[in-house]
Amino acid sequence: MSTELHNFKPSSIVWGHWRLPEWKLSPHALLNLTKQCIELGVNTIDSADIYGDYTCEGYFGQALALEPSLRQKLKLITKCGIRLISAKFPDVKVKHYDYTFRHIIVSAEQSLLNFKTDYIDLLLLHRPSPMLDPNEVAKAFEQLWRDGKVLNFGVSNFLPYQIDMLQSYLDIPLIVNQIEISPLHVDYFQNGTIDYMLRKRMLPMAWSPLAGGRLLNPNSLTEKRVLQVLQQVASYRGLTPEQVAISWLLSHPIGIVPVIGTGNVDRIKSAAEAKNTNLALQEWFLIYTASLGREVD
Ligand code: NAP
Repeated sequence: MSTELHNFKPSSIVWGHWRLPEWKLSPHALLNLTKQCIELGVNTIDSADIYGDYTCEGYFGQALALEPSLRQKLKLITKCGIRLISAKFPDVKVKHYDYTFRHIIVSAEQSLLNFKTDYIDLLLLHRPSPMLDPNEVAKAFEQLWRDGKVLNFGVSNFLPYQIDMLQSYLDIPLIVNQIEISPLHVDYFQNGTIDYMLRKRMLPMAWSPLAGGRLLNPNSLTEKRVLQVLQQVASYRGLTPEQVAISWLLSHPIGIVPVIGTGNVDRIKSAAEAKNTNLALQEWFLIYTASLGREVD
């Protein structure tokens, strides 16, 4: 299935910026790394208002400001809705979700200022909320879209009935659901979310595709069992275990887009190269079975 949805076509691997502060890069170094990513075919960046205690978008904006023409070669994804306890927001006394019209607009406009850009390619609601008013979301999305500030919309960590509910209030289609999927996190294959997204032609983006690095540094029995199988497939395929994990996502018929979280250019290159490998059906099930800890029924 094509990942071309409406006018949004992410690269087959997306570069996640959640860990950006750990990379300790100057704006120049971040700019250079970004250019290397683009050369590797990784031109889509995933961020969020809250990443790095509300600093990651701004760090990237500083790098982009060094070469503004790079913006047109990039797709920028960001998210809104989580309110963290932070020195920057003394009025927030408890971590919560805010999907009011005002907060969505203020957050998206702040993201534009942080990135020093006049449009965001894709805006996601970061997590479902028990207090979400879909009328407020609809008003905010329509205004952002009409003003050309956000080109596409989606959600993250939503279940099918939550997507259905929200979509029923919107004229604008929700085109992406960003969810946790990896050989250590297979719940969305079992709870109907992937099937629902296939039906709706929505694109799943997989966050923490290497389980935040736990896949390669296993502790639990499950983690050890999964790594052993990844190594087994890797050795006869001439790949690394992390490439097999990425291929496992890319080989799924829905066209899962892994959102990788490394700042190491060799690891980004290795993930980008994984797209050249299609796992066979039985290899896919070998890894799935290792994750379940039993054969399928
Ligand atoms: P990940 O790619 O699963 O994990 C990245 C971590 O794994 C980094 O610490 C990296 O270290 C380490 N790693 C990579 N290759 C390794 C290897 N061969 N051996 C040992 N460690 C290795 O992804 P993630 O960072 O957890 O998440 C990716 C992105 O998903 C985030 O940046 C964010 O954009 C998005 N995300 C979204 C949500 C959501 O709710 N929507 C939630 C979480 C994350 P090095 O940096 O040293 O390579």
